[in-house]
Amino acid sequence: MSTKPETVLVAGAGIAGLGVALALGDGNREVTILDRDPPPPDASPEEAFNTWERRGATQLRHSHVFLGRLTTLIRDRYPRLLDELLQAGARIFTFEDALPPTLKNIYAPAAGDDEMTILFSRRTTLELVMRRYAAQLPNVRFVSDAGVRGLLAHRDGQSLIVDGLAVTRGDTVEEMRADVTVDASGRNTAFPDWLRAEGLQVTEEESPAGILYFTRHYRLRDGMDEPDRDGTPGAGDLGYIKYGVFAADNRHFSITLATPEIETELRMAIVRPEIFDRLCAEIPGCARWTDPARALPASPVYSMGNLKSVWRNYFRHGEPQALGFFAVGDSAVRTNPLYGRGCSAGVVHAHILRTALDATADPRERARIVERDTRAALRPYYDTMVKQDLQSIRRAGHERDPAYKPRLKGRIAKSFIEDALMPATRADLAVLRASSRAFHMFSDPVAWLKDPVMLARILRVWAVPKSRKTRAGYYPPEFGPPRAEMFARVGLANS
Ligand SMILES: Cc1cc2nc3c(=O)[nH]c(=O)nc-3n(C[C@H](O)[C@H](O)[C@H](O)COP(=O)(O)OP(=O)(O)OC[C@H]3O[C@@H](n4cnc5c(N)ncnc54)[C@H](O)[C@@H]3O)c2cc1C
Repeated sequence: MSTKPETVLVAGAGIAGLGVALALGDGNREVTILDRDPPPPDASPEEAFNTWERRGATQLRHSHVFLGRLTTLIRDRYPRLLDELLQAGARIFTFEDALPPTLKNIYAPAAGDDEMTILFSRRTTLELVMRRYAAQLPNVRFVSDAGVRGLLAHRDGQSLIVDGLAVTRGDTVEEMRADVTVDASGRNTAFPDWLRAEGLQVTEEESPAGILYFTRHYRLRDGMDEPDRDGTPGAGDLGYIKYGVFAADNRHFSITLATPEIETELRMAIVRPEIFDRLCAEIPGCARWTDPARALPASPVYSMGNLKSVWRNYFRHGEPQALGFFAVGDSAVRTNPLYGRGCSAGVVHAHILRTALDATADPRERARIVERDTRAALRPYYDTMVKQDLQSIRRAGHERDPAYKPRLKGRIAKSFIEDALMPATRADLAVLRASSRAFHMFSDPVAWLKDPVMLARILRVWAVPKSRKTRAGYYPPEFGPPRAEMFARVGLANS
């Protein structure tokens, strides 16, 4: 029996590639991670944010939230990495920190609460620290400025065996061979085309996110703190705009405003910093953060489009088509960034790969395990998200029509969300816990809502008259003005 360690070649040193480094970095395999971008600067998080060139990951300077699924995985398996993140300025935001004022006084910790923990960090800081940590793992090697240009593969009967990658380094193209080849090259992966050129049928399920992303970063002024968590929602959906405040490391935070694709006027104007800030000033959940007395802008307004959900199928008739090859992260499953799930999904995916590689040396069986476990871990989130996005796209269309009157079914669904579900998460700790576990990717995103006990608790809140719920503070304050009013206030034509 050969004692040579298995070799693994990974295309892409983004979050999923770093996840593979963590998952396989115990020294038992030789892991080489290639990225066409330059390495991170040997510098502070501040400098990394300002200078790190990452053309391969254009979302790098957009707001990122790191959910409990990722934070807990790092905490439990790589505690030293978590220490390094905290030393670099990242922060832990616990379930208790996130409680609305209505539940703060009655809170008693329960099992699992410590999992629902967000890591507050700019994406640049997370990546910088993860990369430095991963580079010190035994038998893990990063090769920067190395663009993958194609696959090395041969046929064995019906199967395509992937042997490695063709890689451009400077002026030369190098052939790098490995026992296992991993595509972690992200949302714009070229692997499906390369595999199709080899005769494989790689299929894609796609669904639009229907939004465009606009992000601006801010820094707290010296002597100023973040606003109190007083129940004003840090994220919300006004129909014509969605907003989110993302606390981060080292006194930074960012705001993302996401506009429906059909809001042409708004999306053209929003990239102008003064319009972005005026919109924020009209949204209470943002205004308390961007108040010029509290914070200063720290970046231009970054924009990003072509946002969609994509699920790629490398199997055909229930069998793997390429052996010795795996796709992880966005290259396999891409999600609407609004849900903040992509990084958690990518690192979970990398650990699924580890389980499969450890379970058996049979490449076909390994592929089956990855396929099975990926579906179990990620498909429920994908399906729910696609459904919610299609509803959201319809709602954005209705927002532009002042004469639109929803049908009875639509009115009931709206009331269930606004008058039952949302107030219940402020009135009932058990409901908040269940919804948070789904949010943090610890439980099925919809099954908790079908649990009869949970449903009864939500319906109990629905039965309380609106006036009493309002008085008790179970309704969040208004997210912001209606569309026509907002457009008038910031000087946009209401077309
Ligand atoms: C606007 C936006 C906001 C988001 N917000 C969140 C959030 O709040 N929370 C969250 O969890 N997720 C968020 N996501 C999703 C998250 O960014 C992705 O899911 C995550 O980065 C996927 O990791 P990845 O490694 O698969 O891809 P990436 O992180 O994109 O990395 C791909 C890497 O592959 C390299 N590469 C590409 N092609 C080649 C090649 N040919 N040769 C060599 N290297 C190559 C690139 O340089 C890059 O380093 C957001 C996404 C977007 C677009």
